[in-house]
Amino acid sequence: MLQQLFKFKGGVKPATNKAPSVQAPIRIAPIPTRLVVPLHQSIGGQPSPLVEAGDRVLKGQRIGAADKWVSAAVHAPTSGTVLAVEERVAAHPSGLPTVSVVIEPDGLDEWIERRPFDHASLEPERVREILRDSGVVGLGGAVFPSHVKLTPAASVPMDELVINGAECEPFMTCDDMLMRERAEGIVRGVAIFRDLLKPKRVLIGIEDNKPEAAAAMQAAVIALGETFEVITVPTRYPAGGAKQLIRVLTGKEVPASKRSPEMGVQCFNVATAYSAWRAIAFGEPVISRIVTLTGNVEQPGNWEILLGTPMQDVIALAGPKSDTNRFVMGGPMMGFDLPDLTAPVVKATNCIIAGSPALFPPPAPEMPCIRCGACAEACPHELQPFELYWFSRSRNFGKAQEYNLFDCIECGCCSYVCPSHIPLVQYFRFAKSEIWSRERDKNMADAAKARFEFRNERDEREKAEKAERLAKAAAAKAAEKKPVPPETAPEPVETPTVDAEAAKKAAIAAAMERARLQREAAQPKNTDGLTIAQRKEIAEIEARRAPLQAQQQTTPNAEGAQTQNSQKDQQ
Ligand code: SF4
Ligand code: SF4
Repeated sequence: MLQQLFKFKGGVKPATNKAPSVQAPIRIAPIPTRLVVPLHQSIGGQPSPLVEAGDRVLKGQRIGAADKWVSAAVHAPTSGTVLAVEERVAAHPSGLPTVSVVIEPDGLDEWIERRPFDHASLEPERVREILRDSGVVGLGGAVFPSHVKLTPAASVPMDELVINGAECEPFMTCDDMLMRERAEGIVRGVAIFRDLLKPKRVLIGIEDNKPEAAAAMQAAVIALGETFEVITVPTRYPAGGAKQLIRVLTGKEVPASKRSPEMGVQCFNVATAYSAWRAIAFGEPVISRIVTLTGNVEQPGNWEILLGTPMQDVIALAGPKSDTNRFVMGGPMMGFDLPDLTAPVVKATNCIIAGSPALFPPPAPEMPCIRCGACAEACPHELQPFELYWFSRSRNFGKAQEYNLFDCIECGCCSYVCPSHIPLVQYFRFAKSEIWSRERDKNMADAAKARFEFRNERDEREKAEKAERLAKAAAAKAAEKKPVPPETAPEPVETPTVDAEAAKKAAIAAAMERARLQREAAQPKNTDGLTIAQRKEIAEIEARRAPLQAQQQTTPNAEGAQTQNSQKDQQ
């Protein structure tokens, strides 16, 4: 029976440039002289270090424990000695450092004791725990902890499990080669996912420019007696986006406000399934991954590389040509320029492209938007990129959010088709980072305000308590001075006398008044009621917010510029 396929909206067809890196089989990269393993390699909590400088570690030993549920462990990629646990530059566009375990390999490559499991004999929760502690995360680039996605929703039955072998990014071939060479392992991993989620169907989607991979997967499915459906889908970027592939294979449109499990679908990358199988069936945590090295290099291809290997060692494997002027991690559509080649390979590193002026010519000068609408037609998320562009450019971030800025997956289709060469995605990234930064500032200010109010409240409470104690003491003293004749003395009672009650109230009032006068005395002249300490605290908050305010002051001008440009473009 022919599988009915559906179309997703938008998308583009850039040159794929995949052929050079699929000519040779996957090669195993050598162990480098240093490994720098960042602890935070997945979405969610940052694992806490389990080792310290001087410790000897074995290959596969856990060196970072998952932080709560949405997190995944990290492991030593080989045996050796921990030199340091310290901040090192990360493979991230910002180039900011992140806490990493630096290991000097001993060359023995000595494994920990590996414990294989039969997942069918274990409780599903135990299987999920093993995956978390083995560091299994989405290897398509999203690095979301897989065990979290493998928890079925009680309310929605799982209709389809979608396995993503589309690999739509140009240049990238790591999934293609993995499917060609290790299809059986992938299919066995998919079977583990199937047993945990219990979907009605399992659909493996592969773009039709990878016939060898599709054939290998089909053969493995048959050999293992599975009923999974291997389906080739038209090559169109970004068919490998989870929502796009789900749309193509199932016809289900996952709205921006929903997650796919709410619609009875879950999606995993083929490499994730493979790593899950290695973790369960061999007791091997995620310590390496397949990386495509391509572009302006002598030897394009795919290497299995230990996580933590510095990029400069990785790049040397492929032999960059002399006119190479940049290195891109990820594909040309969604990747970013590596800011520092000492940054290590991490679980998200699927491809490194050496760039040259000939391969990636400098972008043409940016021209005004002509409101042609091509970007909106290309957007797979049905956004209005030109509107987002205006709002981002004019720093009208509220409006940008209203136009669903955060639904943008930064796929780059809009920039790709724009005849005015506007780097739209860069504007969107800028707007998002500004919004996050404002959010951070606001949270800090709110936290400072809460601390300030709490302290005030506590001071007042302590003063009132002190006044109460004084009042009680005064009442006791007064009672001692006026002894009651024994024959008329009432039985002692818990409640204070009328005099004692009045004295207590008066003492509290006096204490409150004293506190108020002290507060007033502490205020400088012509104030708005704040103490010096309070002013200092607010001044600190203001200082932190100064850059933001400066930006806000420029907003009206920018908006004015937008209006002018907008009018100009409409003429
Ligand atoms: S941003 Fe570019 S593609 Fe979009 S409407 Fe303007 S000129 Fe056209
Ligand atoms: S980058 Fe964002 S706005 Fe542009 S096409 Fe992709 S999803 Fe749409």
